[in-house]
Amino acid sequence: MNTQKIRVRFAPSPTGLVHVGNARTALYNWLFARRTGGTFLLRIEDTDLERSEARYETQLIEDLRWLGLDWDEGPAEASVPEKGACGPYRQSERLAIYAEHTERLLAEGKAYRCFCTAEELEAERAQAVAEHRPQIYSGRCRTLDTATIERNVAAGKPFAVRLKIEDHPLRFHDLVRGTVEFAAETVSDPILVRSASGGAGGVSAGVPVYNYVVTVDDALMGITHVIRGDDHISNTPKQVAIYQAFGWPVPEFAHLSTILGADRERLSKRHGATSISNFREMGYLPEALVNYLALLGWGAEDGKTETFTLEELTRTFSLERVTPSPAIFDFDKLNWLNRHYLKLAAPERVADLAWEYFAERLTVPGTDTAAVKSWFERLLALFVPAVDHLNQLPAKAAAVFGFDINAAHANEENAAVLAADSARTVLGEMASRIRAHSGRVTPEIFKAWMNEIKAATGIKGKELFHPVRIALTGAHSGPEFDKLLPLIEEGAALGLGIPSVRERIEGFVGV
Ligand code: GLU
Repeated sequence: MNTQKIRVRFAPSPTGLVHVGNARTALYNWLFARRTGGTFLLRIEDTDLERSEARYETQLIEDLRWLGLDWDEGPAEASVPEKGACGPYRQSERLAIYAEHTERLLAEGKAYRCFCTAEELEAERAQAVAEHRPQIYSGRCRTLDTATIERNVAAGKPFAVRLKIEDHPLRFHDLVRGTVEFAAETVSDPILVRSASGGAGGVSAGVPVYNYVVTVDDALMGITHVIRGDDHISNTPKQVAIYQAFGWPVPEFAHLSTILGADRERLSKRHGATSISNFREMGYLPEALVNYLALLGWGAEDGKTETFTLEELTRTFSLERVTPSPAIFDFDKLNWLNRHYLKLAAPERVADLAWEYFAERLTVPGTDTAAVKSWFERLLALFVPAVDHLNQLPAKAAAVFGFDINAAHANEENAAVLAADSARTVLGEMASRIRAHSGRVTPEIFKAWMNEIKAATGIKGKELFHPVRIALTGAHSGPEFDKLLPLIEEGAALGLGIPSVRERIEGFVGV
């Protein structure tokens, strides 16, 4: 491997939420830097002023931190100073640098001013279409003489700045795909700086384009490896041409394959959650998501191992095993990993994370918080193994929180169970025992009652248990009574707004 110190970057545009594709790019860059003792930079690509928003920058920084990906160099934040010697790390703060470089390219004759108007370019394109020629810029302004250029500039005629593409193929090395080559004519003379509408003269008046600023920044920031999504492959030859125009060394590239949904269409909201903050809100653990993202296009050397902590990934990740074939986002696998990490996570941590999904459902008395905490942890011990992610908990644990008696009666399966004479008999027997009892119903007492009812009525098995379970929980299946009853009775006693066993049976039988 190259002995030069590795420098990589994650360069998100703060124009929306970070989706899994971008997060994987960040992770692979981070892992590559950590594995090789290199440097990982964060650069905010916010030159698209209309679409960039500060809240997306804040969110993406929060997402990276949540995933556990820290950066060695990056922009200043509200309470964190800029890190690194190659700043600023926000492109909107680097406009003077781009302008200076544009001057240099113009002075060296590597770029030229293009005065073509939008209408002229459109007409050129239409003609190319009509003549079945590739729709590329004719290079009309390439050969303007100095006098014309000076006259146009003096008259305030708006211009774009275009790069002169030399007539040779543009080639780059991709660590995932090998050598990639584009013919020069497929690139034509790309715009580096858009024409400033309104015709303000001068080079810096127009907005520099992505391909240009990304190259200037990558070069000035000493980036050795550009690891990013393969949607940028077609941009790369233009960037290579820009490196060459400046005489800068071209970095290595690694273009990561597209992430598809199960239907092999590009992963989108249609397939479910796609942004990191979505997954976080749904109660996925960051270690599960990191593990899953690592597997989206990379695999362990042994071809088998699928569970990796970030630390383990740091020791095993390598770009050589990144595959060029598209990765299919498999929600079941992510869920499997999340269940794996939920099992490993400390109960107090899971309780802290899970609490927000219950906060609205529980009336917390504010007294005896230790008892509430311990109750909540036992509730989670019962239900967390039954969920894929934490926001499914309230629905899973609905039995504990009480239920709509009318809906429980109306439910078809329940109705079939409850229609039997035996069901009425069992519930009548249960209700009379509850009425004669004071204090909590423990699993022992409950078991004794069930045995008594069985002996007194001869009703047993499903016919005995299902009506009771429906009356207690609204459904005929669910966790064992031994575990459920103490949660219900204790929750009711703690004043959490949970109906007691007595209230449930009496209420149900009363309808
Ligand atoms: N800002 C670009 C993006 O978010 C960065 C692409 C690159 O890594 O060069 O797609």
